[in-house]
Amino acid sequence: MFRHLAEAATVPVVAHLDHGRSLEDCRAALDAGFTSVMFDGSALPLQQNIDLTAAVVALAKAAGASCEGEIGFVGYASGAASDGTDPAEAARFAAETGVEAMAISIGNLHLQEHEGQGLDLARLAAIEALTTVPLVIHGGSGVPATQRLQLASTSRIAKVNIGTELRMAFGTALRAALARDPDRFDRISILKETEAPVTEAARAVIRGLGASGRA
Ligand SMILES: [Zn+2]
Repeated sequence: MFRHLAEAATVPVVAHLDHGRSLEDCRAALDAGFTSVMFDGSALPLQQNIDLTAAVVALAKAAGASCEGEIGFVGYASGAASDGTDPAEAARFAAETGVEAMAISIGNLHLQEHEGQGLDLARLAAIEALTTVPLVIHGGSGVPATQRLQLASTSRIAKVNIGTELRMAFGTALRAALARDPDRFDRISILKETEAPVTEAARAVIRGLGASGRA
């Protein structure tokens, strides 16, 4: 289903596995037709993260797919704390794994429902000074809109993961659809009313990154 939608898109897209926890996860995704995988070894000791990520990069390359890795640990709102990316480690990770994209931890946090304090620009600059690999920000929902727009054009951040914001739009629309008519039961008619609000929210996110019309 995912590949079918991707192939019908009018802009270049990847069918991406987010947070693959093992080589086997990533292999299964590639076998199933994903065109991009993330291997998340960020909780592992550095050398182990490098070795496993390099193995996934080789696997992805052989399948004609791209691979994203993570260095430093991006924590979770009301969950595990972050471990900020060390610029020298990031440079070594990029050079020794050959990843196409590198997720970094610079004040970003997964599952934030409101704008946070913003990203640590000094740490970002220090990372960018040591490596040229395109960077990824997980936890994009918590990054202030003005900073998103600014960094999209002035930094090497090339991918911003935004999920919470869209899931909130979905949840709000679903609740409203149910509240409007207590007798309603048909899932198709209920879910249909979430489509336009989520589409609009996604459009706003894309425009907010200055990415609209840049295909
Ligand atoms: Zn993530």
